[in-house]
Amino acid sequence: MKDPVNRWGAADHAHSWHPFTDQEIWESEAPVVISRGEGSWLFDVEGNRYLDANSSIWTNIHGHSHPVIVEAIQEQAAKLCHSSYLGLANDKASELAEKLCSFFPGRLERCFFSDDGSTALEVAFKMSLQWRQQNGEHERTGIIAFENAYHGDTLGAASVGGVSRFIKGYGEAGLEVYRVGSLEDLKVLPEVVVQTASAVVIEPLIQGVNQMRPWPQGMLSELRAWAASLGIHLILDEVMTGFGRTGEMFACQKEGVIPDFLCLAKGLTGGTMPLAATLTTSEIYEGFKGPGRTFYYGHSYTGNALGCAAALASLSLFETGETLSEVEEKGAYLERELVRIPKIQEVRRVGLVVGFDIEGCGQEFCRKLRERGVLTRPILNTIVIMPPLSVTMEELEFLVEAIAR
Ligand SMILES: *Cc1c(COP(=O)(O)O)cnc(C)c1O
Repeated sequence: MKDPVNRWGAADHAHSWHPFTDQEIWESEAPVVISRGEGSWLFDVEGNRYLDANSSIWTNIHGHSHPVIVEAIQEQAAKLCHSSYLGLANDKASELAEKLCSFFPGRLERCFFSDDGSTALEVAFKMSLQWRQQNGEHERTGIIAFENAYHGDTLGAASVGGVSRFIKGYGEAGLEVYRVGSLEDLKVLPEVVVQTASAVVIEPLIQGVNQMRPWPQGMLSELRAWAASLGIHLILDEVMTGFGRTGEMFACQKEGVIPDFLCLAKGLTGGTMPLAATLTTSEIYEGFKGPGRTFYYGHSYTGNALGCAAALASLSLFETGETLSEVEEKGAYLERELVRIPKIQEVRRVGLVVGFDIEGCGQEFCRKLRERGVLTRPILNTIVIMPPLSVTMEELEFLVEAIAR
């Protein structure tokens, strides 16, 4: 980078430590210091603008600083920012729980709030396992997960994930996990694994961190049938796919599947505040009633009123606009244009979630994109393109042009 390290870059280099980042490389160049966002664009302190081509790590939905969400947060902040959810309710969390459950009437009727995707998964694992212990199924202590899956970075969630570079070095810490590669593997699982499994967990339709790899069509509904026939809970990790990315509000709706646990985070607040939710059934919920059956889990900021207000505003935008119905058209345009570009390999897409491969130079490719005003992060040599759903056709043209160059 040509720019000298500015005041904020210097403070960052001196004192900050970034996630998933080789700090040696990080300290060798001036960081981009973002200070403003508007629509699909982010602006740095030097005044440069960048198209946010990965929705700020897969979170943003309606664009940055959307006036409806900003107003909801401002109004809420002036009334109440936070009160404890332990032994108290708050009006915004009540409304949001009701709203989220309304997508699955009569099926997913309970909402448990936490803060991030990882914690939404921790909640689902712990609920499933504890439910077995207090409902006469003591032998069901295992979790079946898919190879190369990603479910977050907290210790329990990471132990279930299958990306070896993220989990090596933590010893045997974590849950009892049995990993499979495909639906076919599940059908030939040893009897003992099936009988001791509490839940099976999957990223529906597409694995994200595993370089954006879609599952075969129909796989999810087959998995649902398999789990139900054996009494194994189905946990869907929709942290990435939730809130319209795939063209439906939730990916599970594409195959008419309703899980036992639905984990939501990233896009829940439209990409504005950390908030997560784990939805589950009345059957699970009822199994936690009575003495000695309390679910001992929670965080200081559980049910945060600001986050819930932002989420309600974000959900309201789906009702007033064409956000969902335009996803497929925008995604198809990207795919059509990308497959034409020489040297781009294997374009993979579900809705507005796109990955393609660039041989041997993922990092370098994204650095060049940044010089052309586009921000995204590679996963190894896969380039992720996942703009806010509100991205315009003109912005997509700009993006394709930058990639082609
Ligand atoms: C990002 C992600 C997570 C973890 O969410 P955090 O908010 O980063 O903790 C879990 N599962 C999937 C599929 C994700 O994409």
